[in-house]
Amino acid sequence: MSTSSKGEKDVNPLPSISVAKFGGTSVGTFAAMQQSAAVIMRHPETRFVVISACAGVTNHLIALAQGIKNDVLRQNTLDAIDAIHQQILAALPACHHTQEAVRTLHQQIISLSEQACEAPSEALTDALVACGELTSTHLFTRLLVHLGLPAARIDAREYLKTDSQFGHAIPDIALTQQQCQRLNAQLDNHILVTQGFIGADKEGRTTTLGRGGSDYSAALFAEALGATSLAIWTDVPGIYTTDPRLAAKARPIAEISFSEASEMATFGAKVLHPSTLLPAVRQHIPVFVGAACAPEKGGTWIREHAESSPLFRAIALRRNQTMVTLTSLTMFQAYGFLANVFAILARYQISVDLITTSEVSVSLTLDQTNTQGEVPRLPDAALEELSTLCHVDVCQHLAVVALIGNEMRHTPGAVTPVFNALDTATLRMICYGASNHNVCMVVDDDSATEVVQRLHTQLFE
Ligand code: ADP
Ligand code: ASP
Ligand code: MG
Repeated sequence: MSTSSKGEKDVNPLPSISVAKFGGTSVGTFAAMQQSAAVIMRHPETRFVVISACAGVTNHLIALAQGIKNDVLRQNTLDAIDAIHQQILAALPACHHTQEAVRTLHQQIISLSEQACEAPSEALTDALVACGELTSTHLFTRLLVHLGLPAARIDAREYLKTDSQFGHAIPDIALTQQQCQRLNAQLDNHILVTQGFIGADKEGRTTTLGRGGSDYSAALFAEALGATSLAIWTDVPGIYTTDPRLAAKARPIAEISFSEASEMATFGAKVLHPSTLLPAVRQHIPVFVGAACAPEKGGTWIREHAESSPLFRAIALRRNQTMVTLTSLTMFQAYGFLANVFAILARYQISVDLITTSEVSVSLTLDQTNTQGEVPRLPDAALEELSTLCHVDVCQHLAVVALIGNEMRHTPGAVTPVFNALDTATLRMICYGASNHNVCMVVDDDSATEVVQRLHTQLFE
């Protein structure tokens, strides 16, 4: 029996557990699954595993959810999904239970994709895309059991409870925590494997947390289970100074603070879902990001405080942005205009991201990270209402480039090298000063890669 720091006796001490999440590429093939399994074996503190759908499957499922009316095209998409799963199933030692589970889920995909042709809906989309994670967890658990690990698969929807906003559901933290208490006994002698990305609302209907949501699921489970650490195993050995696909000289960051990493996730560094760090911050859980295919390369530790806090840490890029500019001459020296604008936006549940104002106009970008992956747009009714107040101009095909760092608004000349690097770029909006950790620029989408590369060269190379 152990004794807590306060000297009280813990009647039933919980084991120190670590939650590990493996992304789509890390479970996309049998070979990738084997590498991920090896990571778990090398980290015996891993008691709870959250996994994504096999790479490519979610994209196919979203296409089906939109309703592919052409029978041949629909069948091709169904075949592509089945091929990914069957290739892994074929490499596993035969197991009737797993084969049946995968077959039943594929039948469900077929049936839901037919329903989507008749009447697509957000609820149906979530039920359909969930089949990706529901299938991959069967396959991965089977592999772990075959390797002799005490793995057991559980259905995330029984534990991760959310509201009913299909495609971008909000977790009910208290209820999730309450549900997860039931897992404590099993954690003593099992490695539990569950689906990322999916949950269920109070009526038991399947919901999803938005694209890339498995990171967030893992963090929510880590919080609910009182985990001592969270490992996000992906296809890159850590968080880089920018997306290594954008800049060849991007380099991994050994340690980064919660604040900096949260800004990176929020502003589009795909390596982490934007909400991932919220539960980790709440419960002070350190987060590790590493490559499942190359664990020996190390990775990034995200902690409450990092040892170094450089002025410039990293650059993030978020594409598919929409900017709305509202112009009203009556705004000049008046009050209440912004309140009216935000009242309308709130009524339509439109979340605003960046904002700048001038004497007679205000520009804002719209935030959207749902499972359908649509470009954020103003609903027609909201546009109409706003048009009664002012002139509304909507501009798409934009990108937000965010430079992340520390003490930015207190460092003299902090932005000088930024503007030097971008002397020929057209900046559509700049946000600076609200946070010590970022300066954000809105640029045309087709110039975004070059803007990131020039900034990276100037500030990090
Ligand atoms: P997973 O399927 O494991 O969740 P993702 O594709 O969602 O993986 O995220 C990993 C990808 O994130 C990398 O392959 C990389 O291209 C991209 N990425 C974007 N920004 C960064 C960054 N700053 N550091 C590392 N990776 C990044
Ligand atoms: N499978 C989901 C997606 O592709 C969730 C995830 O991978 O995190 O978005
Ligand atoms: Mg991801």
